[in-house]
Amino acid sequence: MVQDTGSPVVTDTMAGRVQRIRQRMDAACARVGRDPAEVTLLPVSKTFGEASIREAVGLGFRRFGENRTQEIAQKAPGLVDCDIQWVVIGQLQTNKAKDVARLASELQSLDRLELAQALDRRLQGEGRAIDVLVQVKTSPEESKAGLEAVELLPLLRQLARFQTLRVKGLMTLAVLSPDAGAVRACFAQLRQLRDQARHEAIEGISLDRLSMGMSGDFELAIEEGSTEIRVGSAIFGAR
Ligand SMILES: *Cc1c(COP(=O)(O)O)cnc(C)c1O
Repeated sequence: MVQDTGSPVVTDTMAGRVQRIRQRMDAACARVGRDPAEVTLLPVSKTFGEASIREAVGLGFRRFGENRTQEIAQKAPGLVDCDIQWVVIGQLQTNKAKDVARLASELQSLDRLELAQALDRRLQGEGRAIDVLVQVKTSPEESKAGLEAVELLPLLRQLARFQTLRVKGLMTLAVLSPDAGAVRACFAQLRQLRDQARHEAIEGISLDRLSMGMSGDFELAIEEGSTEIRVGSAIFGAR
């Protein structure tokens, strides 16, 4: 006889994984009194192919995070029918500005004026504008990309003059550490930097969005004010 445990059969499907992530997002919001509607889930599809992305499209996702423009160029042609908006989240060489201008709807890893200038030139050529987030380094790790916190205001003031770049907020990667306090401190720092920058009220710059939190730390990020979590492995599986 089959035992009835009273709970639904849990199979490891993408739909099931996404459902559990959403439950954890809702619980994190509830812990700090936030409205779950304030937090978006951005699937990060890097290293995963067309079939996985189509499965996620079937679950209602249209925006996908990728860290390399070459990978977007490879995947996009086979997925034109899905109407995907590609979001670049990885560190970019300036010579990739052309690919961002051609392929991406958004860039979350803007970290220097030189890149902004190259993007502006290419976007003017394409006759379009994109949303951008400025990536700030909040982790002491050498390898973590992003500009130093003290450079944020000067860069934001300069970005205000590029009409092709719609600044919407900030992005960061937390320190990779088992110490939840250290991880949380990175997220709290980004939020504080955002609050300080808002006092400047720079014309044309909006700082409503905070992209922070990944598979391993998104609950802490939400508790610290994230409006967008970038989740790869918890949706698509191990890379
Ligand atoms: C890969 C990546 C993510 C997602 O990482 P997971 O741990 O797989 O959720 C988020 N942000 C950036 C910048 C990434 O490169």
